[in-house]
Amino acid sequence: MPTPADPRKKPTSIKIHISNGAGIDIAWADGHASHYDFTYLREECPCATCSDARGKKADHSAEPAPAFLSSPALPMFKPKPRAQAATQIGSYAIQLSFSDGHSTGIYSYDYFRIICPCAECAKAFRTPES
Ligand SMILES: [Zn+2]
Ligand SMILES: [Zn+2]
Repeated sequence: MPTPADPRKKPTSIKIHISNGAGIDIAWADGHASHYDFTYLREECPCATCSDARGKKADHSAEPAPAFLSSPALPMFKPKPRAQAATQIGSYAIQLSFSDGHSTGIYSYDYFRIICPCAECAKAFRTPES
């Protein structure tokens, strides 16, 4: 993957709050700041297995929806995943190990910016399908 020159995808500061479960804060070269909680990151895990699962969900499957979308009629309780460890991968990514045992997700800085939960980034990086 080529390194983009885009300052919007270049982190200047990364703070990973594993012990208190507060999530990850990233400051970007364009002045933007992003906050991610671990539950969100777990849901957006970029590994092949999770991408695949999300694709199937989008395809009207009976998979339980993410917590923020679940309806009262489907009380699928899952404990909130937390991160147990974070490993820096070179200068381009972070690998997260979650409390549910999942640790194959490697989050590149590009990817972090693309999944920034704020509305501004949703508009800039996540254009709706169709
Ligand atoms: Zn995954
Ligand atoms: Zn943002």
